[in-house]
Amino acid sequence: MLVPMEQLIVAAFLVLFGVEFAVEFGLNELNLRYVRAKWAENKLPDFFQHNMSDEQYAKSVQYTLAKGRFQRWAEIYGRLITLVVLFSGLLPFMDRLAKDVANRFVSIANLGGLIFCLGVALVFAVASLPTDLYSTFELEARFGFNKTTWKLHLTDKLKGLLLGILIGLPFLFVVLWLMEATGSYWWLWTFLFVSGFQLLMVIVYPTLIAPLFNKFESLPEGELRNRILRLAEQVGFKTNGIFSMDGSKRSAHSNAYFTGIGQTKRIVLFDTLIAQMTIDQGLAVLAHEMGHYKMKHIRRMLVVQTVFLFCGLYILSLLVNYKPLFGAFGLDNPSNAAALVLFSLLSGPATFYLGPLINLLSRKHEYEADRFAVETLRNPRPMEEALIKLTVKNLANLTPHPWYSAYHYSHPTPTERIGAIHTIPSA
Ligand SMILES: [Zn+2]
Repeated sequence: MLVPMEQLIVAAFLVLFGVEFAVEFGLNELNLRYVRAKWAENKLPDFFQHNMSDEQYAKSVQYTLAKGRFQRWAEIYGRLITLVVLFSGLLPFMDRLAKDVANRFVSIANLGGLIFCLGVALVFAVASLPTDLYSTFELEARFGFNKTTWKLHLTDKLKGLLLGILIGLPFLFVVLWLMEATGSYWWLWTFLFVSGFQLLMVIVYPTLIAPLFNKFESLPEGELRNRILRLAEQVGFKTNGIFSMDGSKRSAHSNAYFTGIGQTKRIVLFDTLIAQMTIDQGLAVLAHEMGHYKMKHIRRMLVVQTVFLFCGLYILSLLVNYKPLFGAFGLDNPSNAAALVLFSLLSGPATFYLGPLINLLSRKHEYEADRFAVETLRNPRPMEEALIKLTVKNLANLTPHPWYSAYHYSHPTPTERIGAIHTIPSA
């Protein structure tokens, strides 16, 4: 007996989707149990014994457990939404609706496709609201982290939507046009276009987009600033690229990051971080970020992303006219827009396994940047203290299950990082 190809595709998808769910859910359970077991041992983990009170440890365990319990439901809910979108007939319905709407207006090429993609994106944006709101206004608030207001949160969402329309729609328009107009090598042209666009965003994001959401100011006058300027000169970093950001208007979490390339490269310190750290510790954080710059980490990540994009588009080019793939999800006729939507929905179970690999590379970068900071400052203590302080203030999980952190963490755990600092010869 012949099994129709459509049924095979649906079955294969469901198996992969189920495996992905089981791994995600299982890792979370493993982590919850591990954190509870470590907590029951009744002693503070290494490196934290003299740097953290029992109350702070207790609070960090409670925070980790609360997030893990919430993650259970968020995971199930998110999966259900994807299944509903794929199998409830919503896609074919929206496909028809988009075509109808497009036909009523002037005939702009691909208007139907644009509306279809936008519609699906909107469904997911609306569906993610409950988990987003609960996490921000309940969970984060319960532990004293949330500082955003409903008004600010709503404004953020509206700005995001507007940016999506202003930047996302023209982007999608060009992609759909390239897919249609450039023949069988469309995927190569699209690859060139999307790579260029990514590069443009790396430049535009820190200078034009991030300032729409936060204020970026040069560091306030004082000892920290003076010492940072000296360090920047020593390392060869352009000093007008160091900013403080008003992260405190949304959250009490503290952080710092390095972003941009070429003329737009910049180091951003959250105001919350500046307030928490001593001058030496703040300088260590900055030296760490300069390490990312010195070792060209952004560029390396971009190269990896570009390789993934190339492979992804090539695979898409093989599937874009494969009728059973569309039929499996109720779409009668293949279209480029539907191919993009299906591809982004179906690629989850495949790209899921790439996440840990990217995290592996990112963790390697973190070790390198820590090492750079220690060697530049010729002193391991401030970096170590800064890591401990960041962990304590953010109530980070001190004892993640090794599999969980290997899978999900883009940074090594504080214990791993401090352990690595101790192995640096000059330290
Ligand atoms: Zn880093």
